[in-house]
Amino acid sequence: MESCLFCRIANHELPAKMVHEDDRVIAFHDINPQAPVHVLVVPRKHIPTLNDVSTDDAALVAHILSVASRIAEQLGVAQKGYRTVFNVNAEAGQSVFHLHLHLIGGRRLSWP
Ligand code: AMP
Ligand code: ZN
Repeated sequence: MESCLFCRIANHELPAKMVHEDDRVIAFHDINPQAPVHVLVVPRKHIPTLNDVSTDDAALVAHILSVASRIAEQLGVAQKGYRTVFNVNAEAGQSVFHLHLHLIGGRRLSWP
């Protein structure tokens, strides 16, 4: 999608502080971090929300989660703890309609 912010980051048309790239996903530091560690894991495929994930995407979603856990290890929060979140639509505050997993850690997190 030409106008989509995260598609443009995935295509290197816009800059981001990348922490991981492979053929299926990218991961980069959030521009407005909510914690000392705040990384977004983003599929290259344009999927607007979790509601739009099909059974064909099951391996891709598993890969997103797997990449997130490896980044948590690399950034030193795996043992202390971290949170992974998909915000979906308005009441969850989704603002970018290209699927992304938030990886948040490095401080004690309140719930929700
Ligand atoms: P959400 O509200 O779940 O849709 O999350 C979107 C996230 O994208 C927010 O945490 C934003 O701070 C982040 N964000 C928006 N624009 C950029 C950007 N250019 N680079 C990195 N993160 C961004
Ligand atoms: Zn997109």
